[in-house]
Amino acid sequence: MHRRAALTLLPAALLARRAGAQARRRVVVIGAGLAGLAAARDLRAAGHEVLVLEARTRIGGRIQTSRLWRDLPVDLGASWIHGVTGNPITALADQAGAGRAETSYDRSLALGPDGQHLDLSEAMDRAETLVNAARAAAERRDTDLSLALAVQSSPEWQAADPATRRLTRHYISATYEQEYAGDWTEASAWNVDAGTAFEGPDVLFPGGYDRIVTHLADRLDVRTGQRVAALAPVADGVEVTLADGQGLACDHAVLTLPLGVLKSGSLRLAEPLAPARQQAIDRLGMGLLNKCWLRFDRISWDDSVDWIEWLGPREGHWSQWVSLARATQTPALLALHAGSQARDLEALDDDATRAAAHDALKAMFGTSFPAPVAGQITRWSRDPHALGAYSFHATGTSPDTRRALAGADWDGRLVFAGEATDADYPGTAHGAYLSGVAAADWIAEQAQ
Ligand SMILES: Cc1cc2nc3c(=O)[nH]c(=O)nc-3n(C[C@H](O)[C@H](O)[C@H](O)COP(=O)(O)OP(=O)(O)OC[C@H]3O[C@@H](n4cnc5c(N)ncnc54)[C@H](O)[C@@H]3O)c2cc1C
Repeated sequence: MHRRAALTLLPAALLARRAGAQARRRVVVIGAGLAGLAAARDLRAAGHEVLVLEARTRIGGRIQTSRLWRDLPVDLGASWIHGVTGNPITALADQAGAGRAETSYDRSLALGPDGQHLDLSEAMDRAETLVNAARAAAERRDTDLSLALAVQSSPEWQAADPATRRLTRHYISATYEQEYAGDWTEASAWNVDAGTAFEGPDVLFPGGYDRIVTHLADRLDVRTGQRVAALAPVADGVEVTLADGQGLACDHAVLTLPLGVLKSGSLRLAEPLAPARQQAIDRLGMGLLNKCWLRFDRISWDDSVDWIEWLGPREGHWSQWVSLARATQTPALLALHAGSQARDLEALDDDATRAAAHDALKAMFGTSFPAPVAGQITRWSRDPHALGAYSFHATGTSPDTRRALAGADWDGRLVFAGEATDADYPGTAHGAYLSGVAAADWIAEQAQ
């Protein structure tokens, strides 16, 4: 990252006169996450003048590597490249020389309430069949409904005994709620999983995902600690006002704010957005996924598995764990909570969360299971610059809703990017990156 002093924030009126319809555009990118950095890098490479404004005191947004444990960096936001083959993050990781370690759902362990080993394969196949039938029936209706209503109104669910229902809920929690971060009561039965995916294994970054953002930000003019408070269309451009009242003008602004922040209305817009875009902001869901990283003084669980599932007493609570023991030989476990379970846990402080995690681990592995020596816990819905983890298809929304959010408003001056705008790979790091590339391409075309 390179903080250049030359691009001082001149009064908006002066800059508005300077900014014209010349081929070299002056672009302000709002947000230094993957989308913003990708857009800024490509625009700079195409010869445009680019300034990135970031509200936080760090870059990366929902890519956040904590180095609190010096010998064990942990990712509090994204961890994985999901599907490495052809994935643009793989190419960036190669360029950055960032080491990767594979994890696989094939190396998993399922435990019952008292820690008994379970073979869930047949039960999960049956649950999948039930849910697919319910979704197929939902698709024959005229209007979308929630995944919960679709499943609960199906004859198969109605006829199912409590044990089958419990296993089906576990399947839905693991397959849909943890993946897309939205509750089944809010997710679209038609489109909960709409989108596409890259092939190949999943890998994580033992040295931290932030290697990717540092690499992308190289030589860009990024100003951190600069929250954008308001935007207004002005002659041939956009006036950007910072929270401290400073203003600057540009030909185009690229807006990459997380959907949760857009929904909150904290960014003042002098003119309304296109109705379809505003509707997309209102109707897409902002999901929640939280991480509870625990480290131990030694590995005292099965070190041949990557994933541990627990069918504990409370649905979705402490049910999904990742072990780093095999992939990176470190004595660390990661528990994942999504949707309302994640929201419930956010009400607990760190000590209470660690104690709840330890109780779950004792039920899973026996009462002598050691207490964690330290923990790091996220609360993404309380993060004012994210207000959630990532977007999902709420009931009544589809990839077309995302397409309505993407693109440009205010006569092409205000360009939208960010994971929520990507119809193909929503809710992912690569989707965010590709949305930034698309925004830069769009401006480059206008400039010709
Ligand atoms: C817990 C968690 C786990 C995840 N796991 C994965 C995973 O394993 N793999 C995967 O592919 N994806 C994963 N994701 C999703 C992925 O992290 C995101 O899709 C991606 O990082 C979003 O990038 P972005 O640029 O769209 O948004 P962001 O990274 O959020 O960037 C937007 C930026 O705008 C800034 N901002 C906000 N308001 C203002 C303002 N008013 N003025 C200026 N700046 C502002 C924010 O601070 C932020 O830096 C995960 C996300 C979370 C939260």
